[in-house]
Amino acid sequence: MSARNEISDKKRIVIKIGSSSLVHPETGKLNLPKLEILAREVSDLKNRGKEVVIVSSGAIAVGKASRGIKSCRTLQEKQACAAIGQVILMGIYQKFFAEYGQTVAQILMDKKTVTDTESRAHARNTFNELFELGAIPIVNENDTVSTYDIEFGDNDRLSAVVVALIKADLLILLSDIDGLYTDDPRSNPDSEFIPEVLNLDSHFMDMAKGSTGSSFGTGGMATKLIAGDIATSAGAEMIIANADDFHIIHRLTNGEEIGTIFRANPKEEFALIDYLEKM
Ligand code: GLU
Repeated sequence: MSARNEISDKKRIVIKIGSSSLVHPETGKLNLPKLEILAREVSDLKNRGKEVVIVSSGAIAVGKASRGIKSCRTLQEKQACAAIGQVILMGIYQKFFAEYGQTVAQILMDKKTVTDTESRAHARNTFNELFELGAIPIVNENDTVSTYDIEFGDNDRLSAVVVALIKADLLILLSDIDGLYTDDPRSNPDSEFIPEVLNLDSHFMDMAKGSTGSSFGTGGMATKLIAGDIATSAGAEMIIANADDFHIIHRLTNGEEIGTIFRANPKEEFALIDYLEKM
């Protein structure tokens, strides 16, 4: 069976959506028709019997836009914007998912949630209970209180940590890029698309220079490859694909060959804590 055929059998799926894929670039405000499609696509995955987690960025971008702030001058301002934006974001998710009969739940985490043995167990239990209850956990970094030493800093890595924590079998990173290229396609027209990565070795990690060029998110290709290292070592497959049109979710989960797939490479000695210490 090819890698893509197997994708349709995945049961526990984490989908990460970057800020730039949720907002209008001109205003930073939420792109409602896009979010509506996201809710419909994820609801359908639930109807197919999957357990789905969304890792959604956007709190800071949406909070800033709602206050007319272009760029935050202080950490407090950024954290306050996250507090405002997170509720706006969840309000919209709740409304759209309710239209399809789905219940969403908010989980805000920082690095300490996972490095501390007790809170890691609590977080894992909460995810499992939410699956039992049929809810869709929507995760973000706890930006309102996270500071440099306890933050993940980007939701690419956070989503991979969630994958490892709940033993998900698929991570889908939806972003403003089609997948992995040999170089940044925006600056190098000769760069080639890489449809499949069997083994995320140092050769690939070295490619992770530059960023996606987005001014709304914090994740470039480097953080996506680190996420890939965590997720594939924990035993999940990872796909990077373009979030331009969220209909891509059913195309991907039906096994269509779009985006870059990173094959699961479970490491027997995998310990999430080792990765967290290096962050
Ligand atoms: N947690 C941040 C937010 O919700 C985004 C981090 C990221 O884009 O990676 O605004």
